[in-house]
Amino acid sequence: MKPDRALLRSRALSRFDENLRARLAELESASLLRTPLEVRGATAPRIDVDGRPVLAFSSNDYLSLAGHPALRAALAEGARVWGAGAGASRLISGTQSPHREAERQLAAHVGLPRALLFGSGYAANVGTTQALVGREDVVLSDELNHASLIDGCRLSRARVLVYRHADVDHVASLLAEHRRHHRSALIVTDALFSMDGDLAPLADLRALADLHGAGLLVDEAHTVGVLGEGGRGACAQLGVRPDALVGTLGKALGLAGAFVAGSAELVRWVENRARSFVFSTAMPPAIAFAVPGALELARAADEGRARLLRHASAIRAVAARVGAPAPRAEGPIVPLIIGDPAATMAVSRALLERGFHVQGIRPPTVPPGTSRLRIVPQAGHTDADVDALVSALADTLSHD
Ligand SMILES: *Cc1c(COP(=O)(O)O)cnc(C)c1O
Repeated sequence: MKPDRALLRSRALSRFDENLRARLAELESASLLRTPLEVRGATAPRIDVDGRPVLAFSSNDYLSLAGHPALRAALAEGARVWGAGAGASRLISGTQSPHREAERQLAAHVGLPRALLFGSGYAANVGTTQALVGREDVVLSDELNHASLIDGCRLSRARVLVYRHADVDHVASLLAEHRRHHRSALIVTDALFSMDGDLAPLADLRALADLHGAGLLVDEAHTVGVLGEGGRGACAQLGVRPDALVGTLGKALGLAGAFVAGSAELVRWVENRARSFVFSTAMPPAIAFAVPGALELARAADEGRARLLRHASAIRAVAARVGAPAPRAEGPIVPLIIGDPAATMAVSRALLERGFHVQGIRPPTVPPGTSRLRIVPQAGHTDADVDALVSALADTLSHD
């Protein structure tokens, strides 16, 4: 069948598209319409925007590994030997050796018995949460958890109790009241909150989970590679054993994809029951092949981690002067809260003019009235890069 060229050329909007156009216009007038910045070169601390060098302060490439020559070479070699795609879900077409090897190394890295790869952190969180609890169960979820955990809670059909951000007393009272009415209970939390940059009270949550016979799922998207000795993550740093640990490969590890780690039983269960694993094509083998090298680079990056955290402190000091207070942040993510979405985007545009990409973050990613700049330095930034950003922030925000 030939495509109908007249139809493809037709300018008339269907009623369905007309409706979408009106809804897009609403988003635009509320300053909530999003359009990504087009970047021409590789992911790096300094990116190419329209032929102009711009310092990247909005990537989660914390250790600046995404552009690392050894990782680029490993991906190329992985594709040469193992092919471009995996072909199907691993339960259907079989599992290739690089996936198994990556899982062994990831489990060892975070200090848990086993791990399972997913195509993305989004898929790992949705699938793991949905697999671990069901209709008879209750799940307790921090109000600032990542969207993927929220969606996993919804998909699980468990009773969802949302607790006030990092409020252990609230978790304790919810467990005391509800735990006994359910088959099992699961506490789910980001380790480092992605838009606020603060750490969850992991040791207290572990103690409460033990007291009530509940499980603990910790999302270490922003902490694997970043916190702990050798970048083993927040749980390792604090000596907290999670029942399920989700880590991503696309942030500090510079690749793409994610994993869940836990006991052999937990990982077997997730492998059988997580719909985003069972019904999804496996990660390309080249990526799995590159994982051991990424872990090796991350473990060797003590200096880079120290530099990253030093950069974040310097930026946090100026953010505290010119933005609304965000007192809890402590890791590599620096929120600078402005409030109004239009004002936030105006500052973001002004910074881009001056050569800094600092993305404005608006609802629904953050609650209404808390639009912000989310500033993320990298190990690959120099002190001079950060000094330049700090002066630009001070200038831009004290002039309006
Ligand atoms: C980025 C992120 C995810 C999703 O990971 P992707 O690999 O990007 O899909 C999950 N949880 C948190 C806290 C994140 O910041």
